[in-house]
Amino acid sequence: MLRLEDIDAFYDDLQALYDVSLEVERGRVFALVGANAAGKSTTLRVISGLVTPRRGRVVFDGQDLTPVPAHQRVDLGIVQVPEGRRLFPFMSVAENLLLGAHTPRARSVRNDTLRYVYTLFPVLEDRRAQLAGSLSGGEQQMCAIGRALMARPRVLMLDEPTLGLAPVLVARIFDTVRTINADGMTVLLVEQNVRQALTIAHRAAVLESGRLVLTGDGRELLGDDRLKRAYLGL
Ligand code: ATP
Repeated sequence: MLRLEDIDAFYDDLQALYDVSLEVERGRVFALVGANAAGKSTTLRVISGLVTPRRGRVVFDGQDLTPVPAHQRVDLGIVQVPEGRRLFPFMSVAENLLLGAHTPRARSVRNDTLRYVYTLFPVLEDRRAQLAGSLSGGEQQMCAIGRALMARPRVLMLDEPTLGLAPVLVARIFDTVRTINADGMTVLLVEQNVRQALTIAHRAAVLESGRLVLTGDGRELLGDDRLKRAYLGL
């Protein structure tokens, strides 16, 4: 469904990605893992169109995205939950969610989608009139995921959704990703929680200093000696 081919990406003179190729299959969870500054967020920015690669291309559903600007990629269904959530703190939970449904395709079905989001996260319905800035960290992450779902993604990209959350909430977010995927959503998940990400991922890749060093089935990578040494402390 989504393919990166031979991507080199730069910030001025600094090369952040070297020859990155990967393929996210429809209906699957793909996890991209790696340490700080490995290039995970840059990979998502290349897909969403915020960083233009100097070499290579992104293909979505057979369409070369090179000429497609970022805002049109959202219309195509490429939707990202940004790292750090980026909610509007002085707007209510419901207003934040409805803002996600800004494309015509999403707006026409937004009441149905809102019901789905409230089913996934009942706490958001309970707190729908509350300011988003007053939610706990975990609830804010739920709100950010809910807002992205309101845009009716065809592929949902999550950038470190569990960052800074307590273990019980980390587990809750991973459960939610699994549920969303079971409901048919294709997911590209960027994570530093390597073990949990690989446990739920069908496919996964490891980025180190801008280069893909391992790709495979999620569970298969969990058993890889190099990965165990580098990321799981085993
Ligand atoms: P993190 O978990 O810290 O976000 P990451 O794997 O997502 O790490 P990136 O944010 O993609 O890594 O960063 C890859 C490289 O690009 C790093 O060397 C980083 O310092 C650099 N970089 C990232 N964003 C910018 C930017 N806006 N301007 C300049 N350099 C950047």
